[in-house]
Amino acid sequence: MSSARVPGLRPRPGTDSTQSREPQPSGPQPRPRRRRTRGSLTALATTGALALALSACGAVAQAGDTAATGRSDVRAGASAAAAGTPRPGAHSAGDPLFTYLGNGGYDVVSYDIRYDYRAGTTKMNSSVRITATAKQALSSFSLDSKVDRVDSVSVQGERAAFKASGEKLVITPRRALREGASFRVDVSYRVDRSDDTRSPSYPPGAHYLHAWVDKDDGFAIMGQPDRAHMFFPGNDHPSDKARFTFRVTTPKNLQAVASGTLRSRRTTGGRTTYTYTTRDPIPTDVAQVAVGRFTKVTARGPHGLPIRSYVATDSYKAAKPRVDDIPGQVAWVEKEIGRRYPFETYGVLGVPGGYDGVALESATLSTFSAEGLASPAADIAPTMIHELVHQYFGDAVSVRNWNDMWISEGHADYYQLLYSVDKGYRKLDDVLKQRYQFEFDKRLESGPPARLKTAQDVLTGGNNGGLLMLAGLRHQVGDSVFKKIEQTFYDRYLGRSATTRDYIDVANRVSGRDLTSYIEGWLYGAKVPPMPGHPDWKPAKAPAS
Ligand SMILES: [Zn+2]
Repeated sequence: MSSARVPGLRPRPGTDSTQSREPQPSGPQPRPRRRRTRGSLTALATTGALALALSACGAVAQAGDTAATGRSDVRAGASAAAAGTPRPGAHSAGDPLFTYLGNGGYDVVSYDIRYDYRAGTTKMNSSVRITATAKQALSSFSLDSKVDRVDSVSVQGERAAFKASGEKLVITPRRALREGASFRVDVSYRVDRSDDTRSPSYPPGAHYLHAWVDKDDGFAIMGQPDRAHMFFPGNDHPSDKARFTFRVTTPKNLQAVASGTLRSRRTTGGRTTYTYTTRDPIPTDVAQVAVGRFTKVTARGPHGLPIRSYVATDSYKAAKPRVDDIPGQVAWVEKEIGRRYPFETYGVLGVPGGYDGVALESATLSTFSAEGLASPAADIAPTMIHELVHQYFGDAVSVRNWNDMWISEGHADYYQLLYSVDKGYRKLDDVLKQRYQFEFDKRLESGPPARLKTAQDVLTGGNNGGLLMLAGLRHQVGDSVFKKIEQTFYDRYLGRSATTRDYIDVANRVSGRDLTSYIEGWLYGAKVPPMPGHPDWKPAKAPAS
């Protein structure tokens, strides 16, 4: 995410203009899902039946398994029994910054979400079908959920007991779920786009963004970091990516857009249903779905990549020059990182009247204020690169926990800077020096990039230190080894989530050096380390504010 050039947003004092477009030290953001083919539905039905059969006689199945392997070890039998005994899934993913967030015991494969958008009300009747895999035998499990009302829940097509408690929806299926089983959960619910609930993990008084970005005719969403469960119940943690489908029904004079690719559009009785799916799994916080009056702009990127953008129709003409830059931007990023763009499509969504004053790396469809997209290239193109790089780092490679957010923001900021230098907007050492000086204040305010002080620091706390660590790493190992580190890390964690430790391990292995203390100093140290190649750089004298 980054703060876009929108009226009302104030650059942080003492920062350069590149920084001024970065998220303010207290902001938030969004995310997606998909549906099954007939083949996988069949497979699901089969495993579902198997799960029911086994859960009815779990002990018998275990005894049979043990006999079949010929093992009579008592301890092995005991641990098998323990593994097969249904128990409740954890009500947290164990994130150090968002301790309440996420859930244990299962892994979501896909979300299939329906919204019924009606003029004149902020409420929308909604449903979600979640397909998941049980990672343990489950007697009950929880979803993150902060929706207006839950009407019914079923598991494997059978009505299930449920209880809403805080921001959790605890579900007890009629029959326990076997470890390894694929299962489906259907939730009928209602959302209210006027709901403006802030994160329970944010400190008192912290600035927060609006999760529902509601408009006179339509809306967009901003789920980052932990608000996506205001849009749909789910496992709302970046470590559990999933494919998304959005099916949105609107009056036929409006239009629905979403992450992924438009699969169908059907109009009956004056209402139109749009269906979008993502090909790839993405984190919940970067799903996007919006309703409004948009003009669609299509193009082709490198290797024939389909590019489609949706810009608020009133701003379309002014924004079109920047939208037309996108194929070239994708080509620039592919060349710089040395890897193809990760998803099946790309483009931007230009929301009318502002998007909480920020831009968001919504997967396959980065979100901006439409007015911001009408800015000169020197002002907005670097931010467009920032969100595009997030498609690689943050979306395709997600963070394992929110303290790893520098992996996402540090990379986005770093390549954004390289782009600004390449286009002649900035001078590398000028910006690095300003960033270095700024880091002394930033670290006091937010903590080290990978050991942030509070949950609200997730949105901005890792940008600056992450950028500086990467720039200093490149200085030490040279361009070719640095690129190899980046590519190896990206290849290894594409479609998965990664930790800070994972990055350090890749850097050490690829470089053949022990870079642990250098990287840890930047990411975990209370003090700002010396800048490689610039031992004379010191904190700025400018007063902090
Ligand atoms: Zn960002």
